[in-house]
Amino acid sequence: MNDIEIIQPLVRGNIRELSPYSTARDEYQGELGVFLDANESPYDNGWNRYPDPHQKLLKDKISQIKGIQSQNLFLGNGSDEAIDLMFRIFCTPGKDNAVSIDPSYGMYQVAAATNDIEFRKVALGNDFSLPQEQLLQHCDQNTKLMFICSPNNPSGNAFSQEEILEVADKFKGILVVDEAYIDFSEKGSMISSIASHPRIVVLQTLSKAWGLAGLRIGLAIAHPYIISLMSMVKYPYNLSCAVQKIALEALENGIEDKVECIKREREAMAQKLKSIACVEEIYPSDANFLLVKTRDADSIYNYLIDKGIIVRNRNKVKLCGNCLRISIGLPEENQQLISYLNQYE
Ligand SMILES: *Cc1c(COP(=O)(O)O)cnc(C)c1O
Repeated sequence: MNDIEIIQPLVRGNIRELSPYSTARDEYQGELGVFLDANESPYDNGWNRYPDPHQKLLKDKISQIKGIQSQNLFLGNGSDEAIDLMFRIFCTPGKDNAVSIDPSYGMYQVAAATNDIEFRKVALGNDFSLPQEQLLQHCDQNTKLMFICSPNNPSGNAFSQEEILEVADKFKGILVVDEAYIDFSEKGSMISSIASHPRIVVLQTLSKAWGLAGLRIGLAIAHPYIISLMSMVKYPYNLSCAVQKIALEALENGIEDKVECIKREREAMAQKLKSIACVEEIYPSDANFLLVKTRDADSIYNYLIDKGIIVRNRNKVKLCGNCLRISIGLPEENQQLISYLNQYE
């Protein structure tokens, strides 16, 4: 079986037969000319033309940064768009299901619910380890998607490529590996596995290490056939001219220095938190945040709010009782947090 024959049976019938909306400018690729094809305003104010629906320049730039081919890359309105597209492309509402590690990113479950897809949560091990056997045991004929977030939000740990591949090799559906925090991790990206594993979809984002959360740009890296399906189902103009232009400029500046600073701050913060009375445990992190077990998360959360510091209270989340998730900020912001926690009684 070739790769497309492996993927195709997982695609919803109506999507397999879809012919995409052809935009006015799909037929003419030139830059110059008199454009009377798209009912745009002819008065040039910088924004009167529709954006490039294929995002060619931005895709070329990001592909170069990631060391991939642009045919392996999809760009969406945040990772959220890519997550939603996974359900719309692969899952039949009311019939199919998706499996995910738990706790993890809340958006998978929201997207499952809005698409009327059963969502099966599989608890991580007590040390937040990957429950390989249980994940596979929760799959059946109708399991089209599996979500593994690595580094995982909110636990902060990354799984090894080997253990993710062991699950990928046994799972018959589409394995979505969410690598939103991969730039902060020592564990390598699964991008290197997509050539040998046509059913793996890697999600990344410009929202975290790249500092572009306000622009809303999410990446999916996968087999060209999956990318072509995503491009077909997305809104034609999902990234505006402004977003494409600003992102291209922002990507000229590397992020290594900032990532190194955040990683250094993360380790420094972990050290300082250790000696604070109300802190019980700091979990190892491959991300730009720390999950911290405290004596009383609700009360410390409210105390910090009073001081004008907002952290994420994960007290109600599975395996995260009394835990706060704390993003790594600027050194002076981190110091403020430490000072207030030291004053907490
Ligand atoms: C922050 C985050 C994202 C990023 O979402 P965007 O829509 O791209 O901003 C994706 N996945 C996880 C697990 C995250 O924590």
